[in-house]
Amino acid sequence: PESAVPDVSIQLPTADDLRGADLSSRPRANAVFVVLARNSDLWPLLESIRQMEDRFNHWAKYDYVFLNEEEFSEEFKRYTQSLTSSNCYYGLIPADVWFQPDWIDEEKAKAAREEMIRKKVIYGHSVPYRNMCRFQSGNFFRHELLAKYDYYWRIEPSVKYFCDLNYDPFLVMQNEKKVYGFTLSLYEYIETIPTLWDSVKEFIALHPEYVAADNAMGFLSQDGGETYNKCHFWSNFEIGDLNFYRSQAYLDYFDFLDKKGGFYYERWGDAPIHSIAAALFANKSQLHWFQDIGYRHEPFQHCPQGEAHTRGKCWCDQQNNFDFEWYSCTNKYTALFQ
Ligand code: GDP
Ligand code: MN
Repeated sequence: PESAVPDVSIQLPTADDLRGADLSSRPRANAVFVVLARNSDLWPLLESIRQMEDRFNHWAKYDYVFLNEEEFSEEFKRYTQSLTSSNCYYGLIPADVWFQPDWIDEEKAKAAREEMIRKKVIYGHSVPYRNMCRFQSGNFFRHELLAKYDYYWRIEPSVKYFCDLNYDPFLVMQNEKKVYGFTLSLYEYIETIPTLWDSVKEFIALHPEYVAADNAMGFLSQDGGETYNKCHFWSNFEIGDLNFYRSQAYLDYFDFLDKKGGFYYERWGDAPIHSIAAALFANKSQLHWFQDIGYRHEPFQHCPQGEAHTRGKCWCDQQNNFDFEWYSCTNKYTALFQ
């Protein structure tokens, strides 16, 4: 009989139920980690990648795609690749995709930025931040390096992954036909999106056929869609279906919103843009709360509770858990299923 002791020469997941398993022919999803970053994000980003490798990817072995509007430095490429045995691909974002479009009225955009500085809105002054939000909202999934993949998991610098993952979340997405997975949700600052909901309502009036029958409007609105409650999934963590973004519904939705200019005349974030689409154009059963993935992005964290904490050998304090704090929207997600 085969020894129960795993062969340490092959990399195995630390979780007990994966010990000794032959992973070479395990079912896999066609999936990739996506990292948008600047060269200056290198060191904080390595913290995130190191943890992703230790908690999950040392056995799952998914590729990474790094994207940047500037060429990645040799140093960036060397240190990121050195942390993983998976393939790393480094892509340049074309200037015409990244930068503020010519048809944006810069005078109007500038006035909006100045107003936000007065109101002390976070990143209110920043054009690069707006470029980033617009790219994440409508263009990351069109990058040629992502063309061959079906699912993505977004990674940001300086985040924490607290628990061993002994299953493949991409397979949950694929097998259960999920389109959007999250760990944390919260309220958006209204100063960044004052006219977003009016634009969304205009869009769905034009295209009622895109709204899913069993949608999650209850996550976004408590009055049947009249007003937006500002709830969104926190997009610095997201596991998603790239084909959802490639759908005509999403492409038309992004294009409609983009033409409104709100990425520059306001400061629309990719989190509400993704969340509203996922909640309206997919059925609520296609959203997934990854409760067993312990995750922190400053200043909030999701720490798995009870048995999940033990199973994942999590190192977060279970008391420090944002899920049902007053500023979290996760109760609106769970209410969809009650
Ligand atoms: P926050 O989480 O909203 O505070 O924003 P971050 O500073 O974490 O930015 C979100 C993501 O976009 C991170 O992965 C950053 O590395 C990346 N990012 C932000 N601004 C830029 C930029 O100007 N260029 C590039 N290439 N990446 C950016
Ligand atoms: Mn961030």
